[in-house]
Amino acid sequence: MGSDCLFCRIVAGEIPATIVRETDTTLAFRDIGPKAPVHVLVITKEHYADVATLGQGDPKLAGELLATAAAVAEDEGLLGDGYRLMFNTGAYGGQEVFHVHAHLLGGAPLGPMLARDVA
Ligand code: AMP
Ligand code: ZN
Repeated sequence: MGSDCLFCRIVAGEIPATIVRETDTTLAFRDIGPKAPVHVLVITKEHYADVATLGQGDPKLAGELLATAAAVAEDEGLLGDGYRLMFNTGAYGGQEVFHVHAHLLGGAPLGPMLARDVA
């Protein structure tokens, strides 16, 4: 994917980010527009468009992403009070960057799962 993808460019070091954890296969960095006291994005270094293509294409790598998210949650002191891990997927999911990323949110009560009831 490379130069067309914002998060591939962060992986390549072409765009700065506040990196909080890095493994051989994953990267975690602070969201530029935080929605909670802790808002970290956890991505795979390899480009997958979303969590569905990652989960089906490389389940082991998907597990590595989750392990990195768990380690960041621990580093950020979120284990006691809890946190939310979220993958926006596609248009209805509100996905804006089409490189798989988990939103790790915490540090305060996060309220209901959805801003409003759409059932
Ligand atoms: P989503 O809507 O799930 O695709 O989320 C994309 C997220 O990426 C948003 O929360 C943005 O604030 C965040 N974002 C966009 N550009 C950057 C950047 N350069 N560094 C860190 N986070 C970013
Ligand atoms: Zn990418």
